[in-house]
Amino acid sequence: MASKKHPHPWSPLEAPKDLAQKLSLDPETLSLASSDFGLIEHKTPLAVFEPSYVSDIVNLIKYSNSLPIPFTIAPKGKGHSTHGQAMTNDGVVVNMTRLSDFRNGSGIIVYDEYVDVGAEQLWIDVLHETLKHGLTPLSWTDYLYLTVGGTLSNAGITGTTFKFGPQISNVLELDVVTGKGDLVTCSPDNNSELFYSVLGGLGQFGIITRARIVLGPAPTRVKWVQLLYSDFSAFIEDQEHLISFHERNETKGADHIAGCILVNHSRLNLSFYPPNHHQRITSLVTEYGIIYSLELVKYYDNNSQELVNEEVQNLLKVLKFIPSFSFEKDVSYEEFLNRLHESELVLKPKGLWNVPHPWMDLFVPKSRITDFNEGVLKGIILKENIYVRFLVFYPMNQSKWDDRMSSVIPDEHIFYALAFFRATGFDKVEVESSEAQNQHILEFCKDNGIKSKVYLASYKTQEEWVEHYGSKWKIIEKRKAEFDPKRILSPGQRIFN
Ligand SMILES: Cc1cc2nc3c(=O)[nH]c(=O)nc-3n(C[C@H](O)[C@H](O)[C@H](O)COP(=O)(O)OP(=O)(O)OC[C@H]3O[C@@H](n4cnc5c(N)ncnc54)[C@H](O)[C@@H]3O)c2cc1C
Repeated sequence: MASKKHPHPWSPLEAPKDLAQKLSLDPETLSLASSDFGLIEHKTPLAVFEPSYVSDIVNLIKYSNSLPIPFTIAPKGKGHSTHGQAMTNDGVVVNMTRLSDFRNGSGIIVYDEYVDVGAEQLWIDVLHETLKHGLTPLSWTDYLYLTVGGTLSNAGITGTTFKFGPQISNVLELDVVTGKGDLVTCSPDNNSELFYSVLGGLGQFGIITRARIVLGPAPTRVKWVQLLYSDFSAFIEDQEHLISFHERNETKGADHIAGCILVNHSRLNLSFYPPNHHQRITSLVTEYGIIYSLELVKYYDNNSQELVNEEVQNLLKVLKFIPSFSFEKDVSYEEFLNRLHESELVLKPKGLWNVPHPWMDLFVPKSRITDFNEGVLKGIILKENIYVRFLVFYPMNQSKWDDRMSSVIPDEHIFYALAFFRATGFDKVEVESSEAQNQHILEFCKDNGIKSKVYLASYKTQEEWVEHYGSKWKIIEKRKAEFDPKRILSPGQRIFN
């Protein structure tokens, strides 16, 4: 969807010389900044800012604040949002990744217990650097070619979240340039309000320029198991059983618990499973319509190698998957964490990666997950034969999230992440119809009193955001007034702009 250019009285040609040098009007650069991974929305900025130093960002924000009508400023990491969240059409996109060209090797500095990372760095690079020291961040996302600043502005979740919390729960300190242009170091003990504001803050309160992230010892390999279920109750009981080990501080549990849904559709994704089992898995999916796949991962290294098989077997012993539908791989730690990149490498040459992505991510409270399964997974996705490339499904626990941060989750001890990773052709009608199907799912939840929360939301009106934040809206408004009173930052989220 191309949006109309919003007239703005400021022209980049008026900028003071030190800023003007870094404002690009090159058509190709503008075009790159007017698109994202979603390929659904397009907004052309007035200019793209290419900062060399954090002080350039400070100067840009201060300059905008000094104008009678400030221009908006959209920090852009890797642009892996799906609905224009890092775009603007009445201001400047800040190409955060340019900072790394001038860090002179100081973009990722590894210490014994934490790593200091430039917010423009990619998680894959953080992994590589920390592994050189036998260390690793603990909390991840499914995909590692995302910037640290980008995921910390959302939450950063995957199958490790039940154990270590989202990525925002693993940050010790941040450097942030606020919407007023102040460069502030913040932590739970120092400028804590800013610290909690920007974590999960959707870029509304400041631009993160550095993050200090917790590290632990790195395992070397993983046992990676997928178990198939036809019985939904057994599937969720087992997922919840597996995340409960950690709640009870028992060390013998899994390190990563996730899952996905296999829906009877001609384009079934069976890439994990051995090819000689594809036929029987397909028959199983055809027979039941929906099959639930539980993903259990146990890390190990040379010291724990001998015990790992026994520990995995002990975990599997009490689970209620369909006998003989258990599949196991043994891969390196990095291969496991970087698993989605494999799919990217397969899909790209086929022209299936750079296509529109009408994704939707939901957090669904445990108390209504069975209704969600009946009403949405069976009642809408299966019944209406809707194609979802990956439908990811796993539980998390509220206790690992910090309510002082700006992210929003359901008000229940356990809730589920449901990620509808969708891809369509470029036909506008096809994209709109997929968006309408997503909307239909949200309306189903609303009509049936399922208090789900959208993750990575792309609302179009402030009313929807007010509803999304619920009782937290007042705090969000107050934080905006304090840290970005002229409403300059990240207008693409459409919360205040
Ligand atoms: C293939 C793929 C897989 C994904 N898997 C997961 C997953 O498993 N778990 C998960 O949690 N998410 C996942 N995501 C979503 C991803 O975390 C978000 O889209 C994230 O914003 C991407 O980071 P980015 O650097 O591309 O951010 P951008 O798209 O560039 O920016 C996102 C938002 O953050 C703001 N922003 C960017 N940088 C900064 C900064 N330094 N300071 C303040 N604000 C900033 C932008 O203005 C924008 O509003 C996935 C995305 C893709 C494409």
